[in-house]
Amino acid sequence: MKYLHSIVCALAVAAAPAAVSQTGQEDTTHSRQVILIIGDGMGEQQITIARNYLEGATGRLLMDNMPVRAAVQVLTIEDKPAGKPVYVADSANTATSIATGVITSPGRIATSAGTDEDLTTIVELAESAGFRTGLVTTASVTDATAAAFVAHISMRLCENPELVDEVFYDAGYRDIHLGGCPQDARKRGGPGAISEQLARSSVDVILGGGARHFAVRTEAGHGSVLELARAEGFHTIDNLEQLQRSQPGRPLLGLFASGNLPLRLQGEAARIAEKPKPSLLNRLHPYLGSVTLPETMACEPNPAFKGTPSLKKMTDTALEHLAADNDRGFFLMIESASIDKAAHKRNPCGSIGEVAQLEEALHTALAFAAKHPQTLVLVTADHTQAAQLVPYTSLYAQFPVPIYTPGHLARIETPEGGVMAVNYATNDFRREEHTGAAVPLYANAEGIGRVSPFLPQPELFAIMVDYLGL
Ligand SMILES: [Zn+2]
Repeated sequence: MKYLHSIVCALAVAAAPAAVSQTGQEDTTHSRQVILIIGDGMGEQQITIARNYLEGATGRLLMDNMPVRAAVQVLTIEDKPAGKPVYVADSANTATSIATGVITSPGRIATSAGTDEDLTTIVELAESAGFRTGLVTTASVTDATAAAFVAHISMRLCENPELVDEVFYDAGYRDIHLGGCPQDARKRGGPGAISEQLARSSVDVILGGGARHFAVRTEAGHGSVLELARAEGFHTIDNLEQLQRSQPGRPLLGLFASGNLPLRLQGEAARIAEKPKPSLLNRLHPYLGSVTLPETMACEPNPAFKGTPSLKKMTDTALEHLAADNDRGFFLMIESASIDKAAHKRNPCGSIGEVAQLEEALHTALAFAAKHPQTLVLVTADHTQAAQLVPYTSLYAQFPVPIYTPGHLARIETPEGGVMAVNYATNDFRREEHTGAAVPLYANAEGIGRVSPFLPQPELFAIMVDYLGL
């Protein structure tokens, strides 16, 4: 893996032109910045569904106007035997690819497949070279994407010091024990759970959800992980007002929800995709009877979002903290996490609202880059997700037989007066799964000559490392 990494690095360095601002503006400082925006699960289907709803079928998202666009080959391998390809990724191994340049196995946070060695992340490299660093997410800050930039652990579920025996509670079924990471415990010489690793980290700004993972006792048992974070120098906050008032100068840890932050949008009356209902006759024979499709619905604001800091607000604050009196520059990762999480729950309006949040954060990032020319802005996804845009009226509708999707279907009324049919059919469990297509990558003009049209996901690490001169 190290060998592959050095090849990827060498290729990226060879392809990179001299570092000149594409805007032609003269830099007032010598600082260099990378702002990496990850839409979790934001494949082309999710982007198109969101574009249709937010901007209309002929409209354009902000990311559509970025001058560099590429396709990213998502790569995953099995843990044992290490190396065999896995064609559908998870957020932990993809974030590890982006954060470390090394392909690993599903569930791993900046650790190697098979050998379980810690992999150096771009945040660690940036810190040791004097750059500031920040992580902003709408998920728990201990969730896989953010975690892989700082923490090293064999299993993403070990988010707090109650390291072992993660249980998937599923009312009506049974509790399913998912195992743990006892070998990563501090008492065994490991780095400890993700929240404890974040509390001990040198990251300058960490904003998102996940307070419950900081409320538990540290492994040593002397107070909570949040108290540990304070002792390590973090100023800790937990609400929007404190976020708006916060001043640069001290490391900042903001935890604005117990777990993931609430979604901004939801379906009418909290509806999600539903199963079409075949008539009794149709259940006897597929050519007979009729099928009732779910009623159409609009998207509406989620009342639970009220008072939650938007991704844009968190990004604003992170940029203020990272840029204040800083001649060196910074690395900032921003994640819109619940494009993915809403798709797992077959909630298309939820995903659309989170793409809107990503767009607002991107607006902030591009405005910052306009004032600070040596700023590389990248937008990408980690992997693709369930949700397909399917015909509202089937191509085969003239056949005198009922035709309907075997999965779950949402029929969304768009603001421009259309109806968009979104289908979820990766499985028949309570949660949909990821899918395995390539993901998009967008860059501002700083990416011209640095981003090739088709690149393996670990090359993102090489591009960012090269840009910052690490
Ligand atoms: Zn993901």
